[in-house]
Amino acid sequence: MRKITADLILPISLKPIRNGVIIVDDNGKILKLDDRRNYDDLELEIYDGVIVPGFINAHCHLELSHMKGKVGTGKGLIPFITDVVTKRAASESEISTAIAKAEAEMIKNGIVAVGDISNVTDTFAQKAKGNLRYYTFVEFFDFLQDDNAQVEFDTFKAVFDALEVGEGSKKSLVPHAPYSVSKSLFKMLKEANAANDKNVTISIHNQELKAENDLFETKTGNFIKFYESFGISLNDFEATGESSIHYALENMNPNHKTLFIHNTKSTIEDIQAAQRWGGENVYWVTCPNANLYIENSLPDYRHFIDTNVNIAIGTDSLTSNWQLSILDEIKAIAKFQSYIPLEMLLRWATVNGAEALGFDDTLGSIEVGKVPGLNLLNIGKDFKLTEKTTVTKLI
Ligand SMILES: [Zn+2]
Repeated sequence: MRKITADLILPISLKPIRNGVIIVDDNGKILKLDDRRNYDDLELEIYDGVIVPGFINAHCHLELSHMKGKVGTGKGLIPFITDVVTKRAASESEISTAIAKAEAEMIKNGIVAVGDISNVTDTFAQKAKGNLRYYTFVEFFDFLQDDNAQVEFDTFKAVFDALEVGEGSKKSLVPHAPYSVSKSLFKMLKEANAANDKNVTISIHNQELKAENDLFETKTGNFIKFYESFGISLNDFEATGESSIHYALENMNPNHKTLFIHNTKSTIEDIQAAQRWGGENVYWVTCPNANLYIENSLPDYRHFIDTNVNIAIGTDSLTSNWQLSILDEIKAIAKFQSYIPLEMLLRWATVNGAEALGFDDTLGSIEVGKVPGLNLLNIGKDFKLTEKTTVTKLI
């Protein structure tokens, strides 16, 4: 048993507690929240700073960890995707070593669960060790080729079937992005998920760049050339006249929790359309450092705050980030959009991600009965985040 105290405890689900004590058992389960005056200092672990729940990384591609530093910054998403597709190959040991190292980095940075995209089986051995709770989103795409949907479905379904999820982890079959998934493939995914689990969570990359909207609104823009360069025909594709998210909404199940990833180019109208579609099941996941790395732009968070929607935070992969740290994502948002209160950012980083992944049974908030992990932030009494703020994993 440990009795842990700091200047401030931020349970997230409850009001902040000054000079509170958290009592945990040997497995990290919260037994009691109490007041420091009820204890002798000698029986307490006393820290300077703020204690928050373990962080949830709502979007990662652990299997791309070996590509750290291989793709330059600021080139834009389309050259980025081309680089990922063409430079991905590496030896098995190089890939697995990088995956283990990246997971260790996340743990050190106070991350306790991950929503992780898989196109291949490379991460499955590491996930089987049970070091973190993973929601594995096995990701499907057919580059909008209805004729090819069944072949691609079968390929990625084999990846899905190869994953044995350990206790506390989950998996689902997800579409990559509106611009890369045909209607036929969307339909197959919807049916397969309905057959698997009622409480499924889905993830889809959304509106990461202007070209995505251009393709759907007017069949113009940089995706036309991208497809041509891979020898893929868009002859059968017709513009819908609406932004790309509408195509996704028409082809997905609003009864499933759905994580929209990136949303850099989402307008208030797009956000409202998705909210009308899925309501509380909709989560908007932001990966600010990846947006800065690839496109050098951020979503306008005011649109999401003003519409009072669920927001969570992800790191994306080491191919498009300098590190895997939710604290560094919070710092990036705070640096460029400093009007957002720290407490709100910490909510995005903890309980919202836990709910999005369906892991809020044990994670996301410091509550009796949960096993959320405890992170110490060396923030002073003014509760101000600075460049120097660090995270220390206490549990
Ligand atoms: Zn991604």
